[in-house]
Amino acid sequence: MKLVLLGPPGAGKGTQAKRLVEKYGLAHVSTGDILRAAIQQGTKLGLEAKGFMDRGALVPDELVVGIIRERLQAPDCKAGFVLDGFPRTVPQAEALDRVLAGLGSRLDAVVAIDVSDQTVIDRNTQRRSCPKCGATYHLVNAPPQKPGVCDNDGTALVQRPDDRPEQIKKRMAEYREKTEPLKAFYRKQGLLQEVDGGQPPDDVFARLVGALPRAVSR
Ligand code: AMP
Repeated sequence: MKLVLLGPPGAGKGTQAKRLVEKYGLAHVSTGDILRAAIQQGTKLGLEAKGFMDRGALVPDELVVGIIRERLQAPDCKAGFVLDGFPRTVPQAEALDRVLAGLGSRLDAVVAIDVSDQTVIDRNTQRRSCPKCGATYHLVNAPPQKPGVCDNDGTALVQRPDDRPEQIKKRMAEYREKTEPLKAFYRKQGLLQEVDGGQPPDDVFARLVGALPRAVSR
């Protein structure tokens, strides 16, 4: 199964991707996670991406397309993958089609998780992340067991620099302008499904699984 999850920041792409990975044994490919890891490790890629990310802007297409080209050739992607946060622009989507065609493959489905602007603002301002394992929490809806500390490894939780109000506004604007047109792009290809992401994670997951083509979800 080769899937793309589309949606604004805070739509729940990461949460739903993790569940899909567990249920179907897919590789989880998150460009945001790959870029954050590169920043933590201080690599050239990380240095190039950091300025864009900190101010809530998109990283240039060439950088993320390069990441994806390499990542999709890794052995764990053979059994299928879920792309979380990629593509985010039409040129990225066109590049993805070319990369997959080069591997003799194509996407099976694209699911857009739709949420309101108010939900985006609420979820991102209340989000806290573990800088070590990447786990995410919501201060009200899904808090850690011990305040301020990751359940998995006890690391102090942080607010992502791009989850501050000004950066969230910028990320939402980027989404509306550059990423939302991908819905029309994939609708034309007959791949687009849309689910309401405003519900609790279990409900969203049930709808998401129901939206997958039967041929690949059984
Ligand atoms: P995410 O974790 O998916 O919310 O991504 C966090 C940030 O990483 C975004 O706001 C962008 O700055 C950058 N980023 C992640 N994926 C992409 C992409 N496909 N294209 C451009 N920038 C990206």
